Amino acid sequence: MDRKIAQDLLTFLDNSPTCFHAVEQMAGQLLAHGFDRLQETEKWNLTPGGRYFVTRNDSSLIAFSLPEGELRSWRIMASHSDSPTFKIKEYPEIAADQHYIRLNTERYGGTIFSTWLDRPLSAAGRIIYKENGRLVSRLVNIDRDLLLIPNLAIHMNRDINEGYKYDPKQDLLPLYGDIRAKGSFMRLIAETAQIEETQILGHDLFLYNRQKGCIWGAAEEFISSARLDDLQCAFASLQGFLQGEKQKHAAVHCVFDNEEVGSGTKQGAASTFLKDVMTRVCESLSMTREEQLIATAGSFMISADNAHALHPAHTDKADAVNRPYINEGIVIKYNADQKYCTDAYSAAFFRDLCQDAGVPLQTFTNRSDMRGGSTLGNISSTQVALNTVDIGLPQLAMHSAYETAGIRDTAYLIRAAAAFFA
Ligand code: ZN
Repeated sequence: MDRKIAQDLLTFLDNSPTCFHAVEQMAGQLLAHGFDRLQETEKWNLTPGGRYFVTRNDSSLIAFSLPEGELRSWRIMASHSDSPTFKIKEYPEIAADQHYIRLNTERYGGTIFSTWLDRPLSAAGRIIYKENGRLVSRLVNIDRDLLLIPNLAIHMNRDINEGYKYDPKQDLLPLYGDIRAKGSFMRLIAETAQIEETQILGHDLFLYNRQKGCIWGAAEEFISSARLDDLQCAFASLQGFLQGEKQKHAAVHCVFDNEEVGSGTKQGAASTFLKDVMTRVCESLSMTREEQLIATAGSFMISADNAHALHPAHTDKADAVNRPYINEGIVIKYNADQKYCTDAYSAAFFRDLCQDAGVPLQTFTNRSDMRGGSTLGNISSTQVALNTVDIGLPQLAMHSAYETAGIRDTAYLIRAAAAFFA
């Protein structure tokens, strides 16, 4: 069972080279399960017991199922669709010495630079073009080995193994072709999208790692892939959401974009997306303002974003006591500064839920002298204030181009999510 889930996760990851593709994958699964697609630009006529989803910017998604009876509370699980990468700039081609063409990029999020070198890469994302007088979005993925960022030979960089500061404008631009490739990159994008190059009016294109995910280890207990952070949680949230018998609460599977760059976009966790959806649901069900506030006050959010497992070569980097390991269960994340919003109440709620569901738990705190990361929960709370627990699945090499996690942990989160939504 764990292996089957891991293989389904790998298929989802391989088909999701960018946040746009991840959202498209999830939308496809929701449609296949009978959910109705809503548009933010149209009026919503919702019915109790109905199941719906809506996307924003093609890169964030909120799916919800409504109870048959009165809507008295919400159960929300949030994750994120984006991962650190490189964004391809406007007019992206740069010639080197009149013999090579490289692509001009800038970093997106806090990636580990060295992991992107000397491996096949390609480009994917979305383009906007005009058709019948209106702007249309189309996803593109050049599904072949297309690009590579070559290292400088050690003979010309003798100190590389002593620690090297990568210069993004010099060291990290991918090689696209020899000089004969000049002027062809955007044409290739247009051909892939089956339109004319001159029709392209805008693009959001990113690099992605071509190496497919794999299952490995002495007992095949590890899973490695690009974008485990945070598509592993997004995948598990959706699977749990699709399984649960949802009667008592309004269940919400919520995936935000732009977590890796601070969430402050119209489709990020700091935006009004979730609040707008909740408000529109309540208004469509003719709830009074007070009924809406009562429902929100009795609601709960799980903010699910991957956590750091103890690293086998750096056991000293972990806290003395709160030390998560791969394949040993979901990690509850704590931080006194409330970068993680777990508190005594939300931890107790989640522990109780997992105990009943037979799901093992672990705990993470930063080592007391280290400053950790941030995530969705506390940012989303500025728009919709809810009791929230921050959790994640334990992984190694967070923000590498190829990350590692455990084969058993995805199944634990699916089980917890199904219990939460039920
Ligand atoms: Zn993350």
